[in-house]
Amino acid sequence: MASPIELSVVVPCFNEEESLPALIARLAPVCRAVAGDRHEIVLVNDGSRDRTWALMTARARHDPALVCVNLSRNHGHQLALTAGLTVCRGARILVIDADLQDPPELLPAMMARIDAGCDVVYGQRVSRAGETVFKTATAALFYRLLRRIVDIDIPLDAGDFRLMTRRALDVLLAMPEQHRFIRGMVSWIGFRQEPIPYDRDVRFAGTTKYPLAKMLRFAMDAVTGFSIRPLRVATWLGFATVVAALAAGLYVLVRWASGAVVPGWTSVMIVSLLLGSMQLLVAGLLGEYLGRLYMEAKRRPLFVIDAVVRGEAAVAREPVEVAAE
Ligand code: UDP
Ligand code: MG
Repeated sequence: MASPIELSVVVPCFNEEESLPALIARLAPVCRAVAGDRHEIVLVNDGSRDRTWALMTARARHDPALVCVNLSRNHGHQLALTAGLTVCRGARILVIDADLQDPPELLPAMMARIDAGCDVVYGQRVSRAGETVFKTATAALFYRLLRRIVDIDIPLDAGDFRLMTRRALDVLLAMPEQHRFIRGMVSWIGFRQEPIPYDRDVRFAGTTKYPLAKMLRFAMDAVTGFSIRPLRVATWLGFATVVAALAAGLYVLVRWASGAVVPGWTSVMIVSLLLGSMQLLVAGLLGEYLGRLYMEAKRRPLFVIDAVVRGEAAVAREPVEVAAE
């Protein structure tokens, strides 16, 4: 049996053939410096349509530190990450994107914080190079709004780039939800969590795998996953409407008593449009929660692993494929 693994690095990869070689080239020396041979790099292929899987398994043929996990299809960033976190075996776990936007060189400083008693050290973006004004502005707005809505303390401007201890990961893995907003779930765990500031680089190659629609869905998962406050919108709107209706009713009665009651198309239209749209808004909101409840009720597995290919020393034979579960 090999010596226990001190450090696991988990990297979700979706169509990252252009970044992968550069990522490994920068990551491997840093891992070796902090943990010697006792580290593993878990690369999760999230149903890529390019040569990502072929590239990683080719590397694994002569790199014992690599663990390649092939998902059965694209499951999305958060579930791919969960798959990697489930497979990894290290005492400390680093989560990092494949596109080199998060600098692996920060690892020694993060390890030092854990040595000092932290359970989670998360990267906090001081700047974001090369991202569109739209992405930076919406992200900034989103995280600030989110903090107002949710009941836990989700750090500002932090992504999934973080180093955590095994006990923190065990708590994370014990959370069964399908709609995962991992950075929030990690905050929920508690223990000592500290930020480490860094400048977020430009994506090394390729394009973002988070188009607007995915970002919106992710934002919805974040809100619904950590707060039921939006559900109360219906109650507050209901109260406000009752008050407005009483006032309007009084006005209508007074008008009726004074005998002037024929015109009124504009006001009737405004009232019915407003009420109708409020009701749809609230019904939609209920739907967001109900839909998620429905998906959770199915209790499907979070991801399906097609194969795990563990790296071998340079002299080894064909890669061994281990089908999981
Ligand atoms: N990713 C993934 N599955 C997806 C989308 C993204 O595994 O369906 C990975 C992607 O390869 C990258 C990380 O998640 O390593 C973050 O994605 P990206 O860099 O495109 O997001 P951005 O930095 O633009 O928010
Ligand atoms: Mg990125």
